[in-house]
Amino acid sequence: MASVTLRDVVKRYDDVTAVDNMNLDIEDGEFVCLVGPSGCGKSTTMETIAGLTIPTEGTVHIGDRDVTNLPPKDRGISMVFQNIALFPHMDVYDNISFGLRLRSTPKEEIDRRVERASDIVQLEGMLDRMPDEMSGGQRQRVAIARAIVREPEVFLMDEPLANLDAKLRVHMRTELQRLHKELDTTIIYVTHDQAEAMTMSDRIAVIDSGELQQIDPPLTCYNEPANLFVAGFIGSPAMNFVVGEAVAEGFHSDVGEIDIEFDPANVGVGVGDRLTAGIRPEDVYPAENAENLADPSKPIRARTDVLEPMGDEIFIYLVTDEDAEVDLEELDTSGGQLLMSVDPDSEIEEDQEMEVVLDRSKVHLFDSDTEEALVHGIVDVGPDAGGPAGQEAAGDD
Ligand code: ADP
Repeated sequence: MASVTLRDVVKRYDDVTAVDNMNLDIEDGEFVCLVGPSGCGKSTTMETIAGLTIPTEGTVHIGDRDVTNLPPKDRGISMVFQNIALFPHMDVYDNISFGLRLRSTPKEEIDRRVERASDIVQLEGMLDRMPDEMSGGQRQRVAIARAIVREPEVFLMDEPLANLDAKLRVHMRTELQRLHKELDTTIIYVTHDQAEAMTMSDRIAVIDSGELQQIDPPLTCYNEPANLFVAGFIGSPAMNFVVGEAVAEGFHSDVGEIDIEFDPANVGVGVGDRLTAGIRPEDVYPAENAENLADPSKPIRARTDVLEPMGDEIFIYLVTDEDAEVDLEELDTSGGQLLMSVDPDSEIEEDQEMEVVLDRSKVHLFDSDTEEALVHGIVDVGPDAGGPAGQEAAGDD
Protein backbone atom coordinates (compact mmCIF):
# COMPACT_ATOMS: atom_id res chain seq x y z
CA MET A 1 0.00 0.00 0.00
CA ALA A 2 1.12 3.52 -0.61
CA SER A 3 -0.11 7.08 -0.77
CA VAL A 4 -0.14 8.96 -4.09
CA THR A 5 0.64 12.65 -4.20
CA LEU A 6 0.44 15.00 -7.18
CA ARG A 7 1.99 18.42 -6.73
CA ASP A 8 1.23 21.19 -9.21
CA VAL A 9 0.98 18.72 -12.08
CA VAL A 10 0.48 20.28 -15.50
CA LYS A 11 0.30 18.35 -18.77
CA ARG A 12 0.22 20.26 -22.02
CA TYR A 13 -0.11 18.91 -25.54
CA ASP A 14 0.75 21.77 -27.91
CA ASP A 15 -2.07 24.22 -27.24
CA VAL A 16 -4.21 21.83 -25.15
CA THR A 17 -3.76 21.89 -21.38
CA ALA A 18 -5.04 18.41 -20.48
CA VAL A 19 -4.17 18.72 -16.77
CA ASP A 20 -3.96 22.11 -15.15
CA ASN A 21 -2.14 22.56 -11.86
CA MET A 22 -3.45 19.35 -10.28
CA ASN A 23 -2.82 18.78 -6.59
CA LEU A 24 -4.00 15.46 -5.19
CA ASP A 25 -3.28 13.78 -1.86
CA ILE A 26 -4.51 10.21 -2.00
CA GLU A 27 -4.03 8.33 1.22
CA ASP A 28 -2.61 4.91 1.79
CA GLY A 29 -5.39 2.34 1.18
CA GLU A 30 -7.91 4.83 -0.12
CA PHE A 31 -10.32 4.16 -3.02
CA VAL A 32 -10.49 7.40 -4.98
CA CYS A 33 -12.45 7.93 -8.20
CA LEU A 34 -11.39 10.56 -10.70
CA VAL A 35 -14.66 11.64 -12.27
CA GLY A 36 -15.67 14.24 -14.83
CA PRO A 37 -17.02 14.59 -18.36
CA SER A 38 -15.23 13.15 -21.37
CA GLY A 39 -12.08 15.11 -22.21
CA CYS A 40 -11.71 16.72 -18.76
CA GLY A 41 -8.27 15.19 -18.18
CA LYS A 42 -9.03 12.12 -16.04
CA SER A 43 -7.03 9.67 -18.13
CA THR A 44 -4.12 12.05 -18.53
CA THR A 45 -4.00 12.53 -14.74
CA MET A 46 -4.01 8.74 -14.35
CA GLU A 47 -1.29 8.40 -17.00
CA THR A 48 1.00 10.73 -15.07
CA ILE A 49 0.55 8.48 -12.02
CA ALA A 50 1.10 5.35 -14.11
CA GLY A 51 4.20 6.73 -15.82
CA LEU A 52 2.64 6.44 -19.27
CA THR A 53 3.15 10.16 -19.66
CA ILE A 54 5.62 12.57 -18.04
CA PRO A 55 4.05 15.79 -16.72
CA THR A 56 5.10 19.06 -18.31
CA GLU A 57 5.40 20.50 -14.79
CA GLY A 58 5.02 19.22 -11.24
CA THR A 59 5.83 16.01 -9.40
CA VAL A 60 4.24 12.64 -8.66
CA HIS A 61 5.07 10.73 -5.48
CA ILE A 62 4.08 7.16 -4.64
CA GLY A 63 4.67 6.76 -0.93
CA ASP A 64 7.86 8.72 -0.22
CA ARG A 65 9.34 8.08 -3.65
CA ASP A 66 9.44 10.74 -6.33
CA VAL A 67 8.37 8.68 -9.36
CA THR A 68 7.84 11.61 -11.73
CA ASN A 69 10.41 10.35 -14.21
CA LEU A 70 10.36 6.62 -13.47
CA PRO A 71 9.04 4.12 -16.04
CA PRO A 72 5.75 2.35 -15.17
CA LYS A 73 7.46 -0.93 -14.23
CA ASP A 74 9.43 0.74 -11.43
CA ARG A 75 6.46 2.45 -9.80
CA GLY A 76 4.87 -0.45 -7.91
CA ILE A 77 1.56 -0.04 -9.72
CA SER A 78 -0.79 -2.33 -11.65
CA MET A 79 -3.23 -1.13 -14.26
CA VAL A 80 -6.59 -2.34 -15.53
CA PHE A 81 -8.08 -0.70 -18.59
CA GLN A 82 -11.39 -0.58 -20.40
CA ASN A 83 -10.13 -2.74 -23.24
CA ILE A 84 -9.21 -6.06 -21.79
CA ALA A 85 -6.38 -7.50 -23.81
CA LEU A 86 -6.14 -11.17 -22.88
CA PHE A 87 -3.94 -13.50 -24.90
CA PRO A 88 -6.51 -15.53 -26.87
CA HIS A 89 -4.30 -18.61 -27.17
CA MET A 90 -3.55 -18.81 -23.44
CA ASP A 91 -5.79 -20.24 -20.75
CA VAL A 92 -6.76 -18.24 -17.65
CA TYR A 93 -3.83 -19.50 -15.57
CA ASP A 94 -1.31 -18.50 -18.24
CA ASN A 95 -2.99 -15.13 -18.79
CA ILE A 96 -2.94 -14.31 -15.09
CA SER A 97 0.63 -15.47 -14.56
CA PHE A 98 2.11 -14.06 -17.77
CA GLY A 99 3.92 -11.12 -16.17
CA LEU A 100 5.27 -13.24 -13.32
CA ARG A 101 6.59 -15.84 -15.74
CA LEU A 102 8.34 -13.12 -17.74
CA ARG A 103 10.13 -12.12 -14.57
CA SER A 104 11.11 -15.77 -13.92
CA THR A 105 9.22 -15.88 -10.64
CA PRO A 106 9.57 -19.38 -9.06
CA LYS A 107 6.74 -21.79 -9.99
CA GLU A 108 5.50 -22.27 -6.39
CA GLU A 109 5.31 -18.52 -5.91
CA ILE A 110 3.36 -18.13 -9.18
CA ASP A 111 0.94 -20.88 -8.11
CA ARG A 112 0.41 -19.24 -4.74
CA ARG A 113 -0.30 -15.82 -6.22
CA VAL A 114 -2.55 -17.10 -9.03
CA GLU A 115 -4.54 -19.14 -6.54
CA ARG A 116 -5.04 -16.15 -4.24
CA ALA A 117 -5.90 -13.76 -7.07
CA SER A 118 -8.35 -16.13 -8.75
CA ASP A 119 -9.90 -16.73 -5.35
CA ILE A 120 -10.40 -12.99 -4.78
CA VAL A 121 -12.04 -12.43 -8.16
CA GLN A 122 -13.97 -15.70 -7.90
CA LEU A 123 -12.48 -17.52 -10.86
CA GLU A 124 -11.75 -20.72 -8.97
CA GLY A 125 -12.20 -23.78 -11.16
CA MET A 126 -11.84 -21.74 -14.35
CA LEU A 127 -8.06 -21.60 -14.59
CA ASP A 128 -7.90 -23.88 -17.63
CA ARG A 129 -10.63 -22.06 -19.58
CA MET A 130 -9.72 -20.19 -22.75
CA PRO A 131 -10.78 -16.50 -23.07
CA ASP A 132 -13.30 -17.27 -25.81
CA GLU A 133 -15.11 -19.63 -23.44
CA MET A 134 -15.76 -16.82 -20.97
CA SER A 135 -18.26 -13.97 -20.60
CA GLY A 136 -17.22 -10.30 -20.70
CA GLY A 137 -17.41 -10.07 -16.93
CA GLN A 138 -15.29 -13.17 -16.43
CA ARG A 139 -12.67 -11.86 -18.84
CA GLN A 140 -12.59 -8.57 -16.95
CA ARG A 141 -12.02 -10.55 -13.74
CA VAL A 142 -9.07 -12.28 -15.39
CA ALA A 143 -7.63 -8.86 -16.21
CA ILE A 144 -8.10 -7.79 -12.59
CA ALA A 145 -6.51 -11.02 -11.31
CA ARG A 146 -3.55 -10.37 -13.60
CA ALA A 147 -3.16 -6.98 -11.91
CA ILE A 148 -3.54 -8.49 -8.43
CA VAL A 149 -0.76 -11.11 -8.84
CA ARG A 150 1.76 -8.34 -9.26
CA GLU A 151 0.94 -7.36 -5.66
CA PRO A 152 1.15 -3.66 -6.45
CA GLU A 153 1.21 -0.84 -3.95
CA VAL A 154 -1.36 1.03 -6.03
CA PHE A 155 -4.06 -0.13 -8.47
CA LEU A 156 -4.90 2.15 -11.36
CA MET A 157 -8.15 1.44 -13.16
CA ASP A 158 -9.31 3.42 -16.18
CA GLU A 159 -13.01 2.82 -16.96
CA PRO A 160 -12.54 -0.94 -16.44
CA LEU A 161 -16.28 -1.61 -16.53
CA ALA A 162 -17.19 0.59 -19.48
CA ASN A 163 -17.56 -2.27 -21.96
CA LEU A 164 -19.79 -4.40 -19.75
CA ASP A 165 -23.58 -4.37 -19.94
CA ALA A 166 -25.48 -2.35 -17.35
CA LYS A 167 -26.41 -5.22 -15.04
CA LEU A 168 -22.92 -6.68 -14.97
CA ARG A 169 -21.45 -3.23 -14.39
CA VAL A 170 -23.51 -2.81 -11.23
CA HIS A 171 -22.49 -6.29 -10.08
CA MET A 172 -18.79 -5.59 -10.75
CA ARG A 173 -19.00 -2.35 -8.74
CA THR A 174 -19.83 -4.44 -5.68
CA GLU A 175 -17.01 -6.84 -6.53
CA LEU A 176 -14.51 -4.01 -6.78
CA GLN A 177 -15.56 -2.70 -3.37
CA ARG A 178 -15.07 -6.18 -1.93
CA LEU A 179 -11.73 -6.42 -3.72
CA HIS A 180 -10.66 -3.14 -2.16
CA LYS A 181 -11.55 -4.39 1.32
CA GLU A 182 -9.78 -7.67 0.77
CA LEU A 183 -6.61 -6.26 -0.76
CA ASP A 184 -6.45 -3.21 1.47
CA THR A 185 -4.65 -1.41 -1.35
CA THR A 186 -4.80 2.10 -2.71
CA ILE A 187 -7.11 2.18 -5.75
CA ILE A 188 -7.40 5.07 -8.17
CA TYR A 189 -10.28 4.63 -10.56
CA VAL A 190 -11.22 6.74 -13.58
CA THR A 191 -14.85 7.01 -14.66
CA HIS A 192 -17.11 9.51 -16.42
CA ASP A 193 -20.07 7.94 -14.60
CA GLN A 194 -20.88 9.89 -11.45
CA ALA A 195 -23.13 7.11 -10.15
CA GLU A 196 -20.24 4.65 -10.35
CA ALA A 197 -18.01 7.09 -8.49
CA MET A 198 -20.68 7.78 -5.86
CA THR A 199 -21.27 4.12 -5.05
CA MET A 200 -17.70 2.84 -4.87
CA SER A 201 -15.24 5.35 -3.57
CA ASP A 202 -14.03 6.69 -0.26
CA ARG A 203 -13.54 10.05 -1.94
CA ILE A 204 -14.25 11.39 -5.39
CA ALA A 205 -12.09 13.87 -7.23
CA VAL A 206 -14.31 15.88 -9.56
CA ILE A 207 -12.37 17.27 -12.53
CA ASP A 208 -13.43 19.79 -15.16
CA SER A 209 -11.28 21.23 -17.96
CA GLY A 210 -8.13 19.73 -16.46
CA GLU A 211 -8.75 21.33 -13.07
CA LEU A 212 -9.64 19.65 -9.80
CA GLN A 213 -12.99 21.07 -8.65
CA GLN A 214 -13.44 19.19 -5.38
CA ILE A 215 -12.11 16.09 -3.65
CA ASP A 216 -14.36 14.83 -0.88
CA PRO A 217 -16.42 11.82 0.22
CA PRO A 218 -19.33 11.20 -2.18
CA LEU A 219 -22.01 12.52 0.16
CA THR A 220 -20.05 15.70 0.84
CA CYS A 221 -19.85 16.34 -2.90
CA TYR A 222 -23.61 15.71 -3.09
CA ASN A 223 -24.65 17.77 -0.07
CA GLU A 224 -21.97 20.46 -0.11
CA PRO A 225 -20.82 20.89 -3.70
CA ALA A 226 -17.97 23.40 -3.88
CA ASN A 227 -19.24 25.11 -7.01
CA LEU A 228 -21.83 25.07 -9.78
CA PHE A 229 -19.94 22.49 -11.80
CA VAL A 230 -19.86 19.89 -9.01
CA ALA A 231 -23.47 20.69 -8.08
CA GLY A 232 -24.60 20.05 -11.65
CA PHE A 233 -22.39 17.02 -12.29
CA ILE A 234 -23.01 14.99 -9.14
CA GLY A 235 -26.53 13.61 -8.75
CA SER A 236 -28.99 12.24 -11.27
CA PRO A 237 -31.27 13.81 -12.30
CA ALA A 238 -29.23 16.98 -11.95
CA MET A 239 -29.80 19.77 -9.44
CA ASN A 240 -32.19 22.55 -10.55
CA PHE A 241 -30.52 25.92 -10.94
CA VAL A 242 -32.39 29.21 -10.82
CA VAL A 243 -30.63 32.42 -11.82
CA GLY A 244 -31.52 35.57 -9.94
CA GLU A 245 -30.13 38.20 -7.64
CA ALA A 246 -29.83 39.19 -4.02
CA VAL A 247 -32.60 41.54 -2.86
CA ALA A 248 -33.25 42.98 0.60
CA GLU A 249 -35.49 40.00 1.46
CA GLY A 250 -33.14 37.31 0.12
CA PHE A 251 -33.11 35.80 -3.35
CA HIS A 252 -35.36 36.78 -6.21
CA SER A 253 -35.64 35.39 -9.72
CA ASP A 254 -37.71 37.04 -12.42
CA VAL A 255 -37.90 33.74 -14.21
CA GLY A 256 -41.03 32.26 -12.72
CA GLU A 257 -41.19 34.67 -9.77
CA ILE A 258 -39.15 32.61 -7.34
CA ASP A 259 -38.38 34.12 -3.91
CA ILE A 260 -36.29 32.57 -1.16
CA GLU A 261 -36.11 34.54 2.07
CA PHE A 262 -32.91 35.21 3.99
CA ASP A 263 -30.79 38.13 5.07
CA PRO A 264 -28.19 38.77 2.35
CA ALA A 265 -25.77 40.19 4.89
CA ASN A 266 -25.66 36.84 6.68
CA VAL A 267 -24.60 35.10 3.48
CA GLY A 268 -22.01 37.72 2.73
CA VAL A 269 -23.71 39.07 -0.40
CA GLY A 270 -24.87 42.55 -1.24
CA VAL A 271 -28.21 43.56 -2.72
CA GLY A 272 -27.93 43.34 -6.50
CA ASP A 273 -25.31 40.55 -6.51
CA ARG A 274 -26.01 37.93 -9.14
CA LEU A 275 -26.84 34.62 -7.47
CA THR A 276 -27.76 31.13 -8.62
CA ALA A 277 -29.97 29.08 -6.33
CA GLY A 278 -29.60 25.30 -6.55
CA ILE A 279 -32.21 22.82 -5.37
CA ARG A 280 -32.34 19.07 -5.94
CA PRO A 281 -35.56 17.58 -7.38
CA GLU A 282 -36.25 15.72 -4.10
CA ASP A 283 -36.24 19.05 -2.21
CA VAL A 284 -39.08 20.57 -4.25
CA TYR A 285 -42.54 19.84 -2.78
CA PRO A 286 -46.16 20.48 -3.71
CA ALA A 287 -47.21 23.49 -1.59
CA GLU A 288 -50.02 21.44 -0.03
CA ASN A 289 -47.33 19.31 1.67
CA ALA A 290 -45.46 22.36 2.92
CA GLU A 291 -46.66 21.90 6.48
CA ASN A 292 -44.21 18.99 6.72
CA LEU A 293 -41.33 21.36 6.08
CA ALA A 294 -39.70 23.45 8.80
CA ASP A 295 -38.45 26.01 6.31
CA PRO A 296 -40.50 26.19 3.12
CA SER A 297 -39.87 28.93 0.58
CA LYS A 298 -42.70 31.15 -0.60
CA PRO A 299 -45.05 29.20 -2.92
CA ILE A 300 -44.04 29.16 -6.58
CA ARG A 301 -46.75 28.97 -9.25
CA ALA A 302 -46.16 26.27 -11.84
CA ARG A 303 -47.81 24.09 -14.46
CA THR A 304 -46.94 20.41 -14.66
CA ASP A 305 -45.55 19.43 -18.03
CA VAL A 306 -44.16 15.91 -18.48
CA LEU A 307 -44.50 13.19 -15.82
CA GLU A 308 -41.93 10.40 -15.68
CA PRO A 309 -42.97 7.51 -13.40
CA MET A 310 -39.81 5.70 -12.24
CA GLY A 311 -41.48 3.09 -10.03
CA ASP A 312 -40.21 4.29 -6.65
CA GLU A 313 -40.76 7.97 -7.48
CA ILE A 314 -42.25 10.20 -10.17
CA PHE A 315 -40.29 12.97 -11.83
CA ILE A 316 -42.46 15.93 -12.68
CA TYR A 317 -41.22 18.64 -15.04
CA LEU A 318 -42.71 21.94 -13.91
CA VAL A 319 -42.97 25.04 -16.03
CA THR A 320 -42.58 28.09 -13.80
CA ASP A 321 -42.44 30.63 -16.60
CA GLU A 322 -44.27 29.97 -19.89
CA ASP A 323 -42.39 32.71 -21.73
CA ALA A 324 -38.88 31.77 -20.74
CA GLU A 325 -36.61 30.44 -23.45
CA VAL A 326 -35.77 26.79 -22.98
CA ASP A 327 -32.05 26.22 -23.38
CA LEU A 328 -31.28 22.60 -22.69
CA GLU A 329 -27.54 23.24 -23.00
CA GLU A 330 -27.57 25.67 -20.10
CA LEU A 331 -27.20 24.56 -16.51
CA ASP A 332 -29.69 27.12 -15.24
CA THR A 333 -33.41 27.44 -15.34
CA SER A 334 -33.46 30.43 -17.61
CA GLY A 335 -35.81 27.93 -19.27
CA GLY A 336 -38.30 28.58 -16.48
CA GLN A 337 -38.45 24.92 -15.53
CA LEU A 338 -38.05 22.98 -12.30
CA LEU A 339 -37.80 19.24 -11.87
CA MET A 340 -39.62 17.83 -8.85
CA SER A 341 -39.54 14.29 -7.50
CA VAL A 342 -42.68 13.04 -5.73
CA ASP A 343 -43.94 9.79 -4.18
CA PRO A 344 -45.23 7.16 -6.61
CA ASP A 345 -48.75 7.40 -5.15
CA SER A 346 -49.02 11.08 -6.03
CA GLU A 347 -52.16 12.00 -7.95
CA ILE A 348 -50.65 14.97 -9.70
CA GLU A 349 -51.47 14.96 -13.41
CA GLU A 350 -49.99 16.43 -16.54
CA ASP A 351 -50.96 20.00 -17.41
CA GLN A 352 -52.13 20.82 -13.93
CA GLU A 353 -51.77 24.28 -12.36
CA MET A 354 -50.22 23.98 -8.92
CA GLU A 355 -47.99 25.65 -6.36
CA VAL A 356 -44.70 24.22 -5.17
CA VAL A 357 -42.27 25.17 -2.42
CA LEU A 358 -38.55 24.63 -1.95
CA ASP A 359 -37.11 23.23 1.27
CA ARG A 360 -34.98 26.21 2.27
CA SER A 361 -32.79 24.02 4.47
CA LYS A 362 -31.70 22.27 1.25
CA VAL A 363 -31.23 25.30 -0.99
CA HIS A 364 -27.67 25.99 -2.15
CA LEU A 365 -26.61 29.48 -3.12
CA PHE A 366 -23.83 30.13 -5.61
CA ASP A 367 -22.15 33.32 -6.73
CA SER A 368 -23.20 33.48 -10.41
CA ASP A 369 -19.97 35.22 -11.38
CA THR A 370 -17.35 33.09 -9.61
CA GLU A 371 -19.64 30.01 -9.65
CA GLU A 372 -18.42 29.20 -6.12
CA ALA A 373 -20.85 27.96 -3.46
CA LEU A 374 -21.79 30.54 -0.83
CA VAL A 375 -24.01 28.51 1.47
CA HIS A 376 -25.65 25.08 1.69
CA GLY A 377 -29.03 25.29 3.40
CA ILE A 378 -30.35 28.65 4.47
CA VAL A 379 -32.48 27.86 7.53
CA ASP A 380 -30.53 30.04 9.91
CA VAL A 381 -30.26 33.00 7.63
CA GLY A 382 -33.85 34.17 7.46
CA PRO A 383 -34.43 37.91 7.79
CA ASP A 384 -35.04 37.65 11.53
CA ALA A 385 -32.55 34.97 12.41
CA GLY A 386 -29.61 37.25 13.03
CA GLY A 387 -27.63 34.09 13.67
CA PRO A 388 -24.64 32.53 12.03
CA ALA A 389 -24.37 32.60 8.26
CA GLY A 390 -26.07 29.43 7.20
CA GLN A 391 -25.92 26.06 8.81
CA GLU A 392 -22.92 25.08 6.77
CA ALA A 393 -21.35 28.14 5.27
CA ALA A 394 -19.26 27.03 2.32
CA GLY A 395 -15.58 27.58 1.94
CA ASP A 396 -14.68 28.01 5.58
CA ASP A 397 -12.78 24.78 5.94
P1 ADP B 1 -10.70 12.15 -20.21
O1 ADP B 1 -9.94 10.95 -19.75
O2 ADP B 1 -11.27 12.93 -19.07
O3 ADP B 1 -11.72 11.85 -21.25
P2 ADP B 1 -8.19 12.92 -21.41
O4 ADP B 1 -7.25 12.97 -20.27
O5 ADP B 1 -8.14 11.71 -22.27
O6 ADP B 1 -9.66 13.17 -20.89
O7 ADP B 1 -7.95 14.18 -22.34
C1 ADP B 1 -7.89 15.52 -21.84
C2 ADP B 1 -7.59 16.47 -23.01
O8 ADP B 1 -6.27 16.25 -23.48
C3 ADP B 1 -8.50 16.28 -24.19
O9 ADP B 1 -8.75 17.55 -24.74
C4 ADP B 1 -7.69 15.43 -25.12
O10 ADP B 1 -8.04 15.66 -26.47
C5 ADP B 1 -6.28 15.92 -24.83
N1 ADP B 1 -5.27 14.87 -25.05
C6 ADP B 1 -5.16 13.72 -24.35
N2 ADP B 1 -4.11 12.98 -24.79
C7 ADP B 1 -3.55 13.68 -25.81
C8 ADP B 1 -2.43 13.46 -26.69
N3 ADP B 1 -1.67 12.35 -26.59
N4 ADP B 1 -2.16 14.41 -27.61
C9 ADP B 1 -2.90 15.54 -27.70
N5 ADP B 1 -3.97 15.81 -26.91
C10 ADP B 1 -4.29 14.90 -25.98
